[in-house]
Amino acid sequence: MPRALITGITGQDGMYLAEFLAGKGYEVFGLVRGQNNPRARAVRRALPSIRLLEGDLRDLASLVRALGAARPDEVYNLGAISFVGLSWQQAELTGEITGVGVQRILEAVRLHTGDDMSRVRFYQASSSEMFGKVRTVPQRETTAFHPRSPYGVAKAFGHYMTVNYRESYGAHACSGILFNHESPRRGHEFVTRKVTRAAARIALGLQDDLALGNLDARRDWGFAGDYVEAMWLMLQQDEPADYVIATGETHSVRDLLDVAFDRAGIADWAPHVRQDPRLFRPAEVDLLVGDASRARERLGWKPRVDFRGLVEMMVDADLADAKQEIG
Ligand code: GDP
Repeated sequence: MPRALITGITGQDGMYLAEFLAGKGYEVFGLVRGQNNPRARAVRRALPSIRLLEGDLRDLASLVRALGAARPDEVYNLGAISFVGLSWQQAELTGEITGVGVQRILEAVRLHTGDDMSRVRFYQASSSEMFGKVRTVPQRETTAFHPRSPYGVAKAFGHYMTVNYRESYGAHACSGILFNHESPRRGHEFVTRKVTRAAARIALGLQDDLALGNLDARRDWGFAGDYVEAMWLMLQQDEPADYVIATGETHSVRDLLDVAFDRAGIADWAPHVRQDPRLFRPAEVDLLVGDASRARERLGWKPRVDFRGLVEMMVDADLADAKQEIG
């Protein structure tokens, strides 16, 4: 039975990846900061077969111990402070966990494997935020980075550190440059979930209006369930490499509002939405749209769920939640 250790198991991607790997017959271990935190309990409820280990990306020794307990064939580093908006308020902490944390887990793998890093395959969750002020559209693996947030800067550090361990120590380390990926499990602070949840709650009379920032912001939004499969595929290749994972399509926050409110049965979203200047970002990324040709050619990967399918799936789940709340 292959064994995998996932950091960030309590996040959106961690849950999808754990389910995906369990379905492939893996023994799945997840790193958590304390067994009793509510999110760890939720993971255990959703996936009883999972083994949770305590550790923290700020603590090298805890990572070495977790690797010793899990003895994984594959490590997926999904743990991060992942909300761009917050990263301006907690820039140092974001650097510490989202950035330096990557170096720590790579070093832990090096110590664990007695310098033979190729024995454990490593996946780093990199991000399209690294492209930031984009040089070319669409962005591919060779496009230069120009991150526009502390989060993007930290992710760029993690990306280069992953490449560096591959080149310095022969690690089978891959960096997946994932564009935005969403699902009914997305945190409420991200714009997709904020909109789908509000559309559902407004439709059912649980909420009056919705405050948003920049409605013209555009993103390449895919479905997280599709994207975790790409992570696994990267680690099944003989040669480690970096891959852009994206849909290649871009939509605005306005498009998101159109599909979400329509699905919730509200013909016009405009009366329900107000713009709040406090929700604008100090700096925005430009037109983020990914070219996933390498993943298509080498991994045979392509997204299954399109933008409309994604937003409708999220609204349907939020409608079900809201109905439950009403009782
Ligand atoms: P990100 O790409 O990881 O930053 O994902 P988000 O979902 O947080 O933001 C996506 C885009 O939506 C950004 O360009 C935001 O400026 C824009 N946006 C507009 N209004 C909001 C809002 O109320 N909340 C969030 N999170 N983003 C918003």
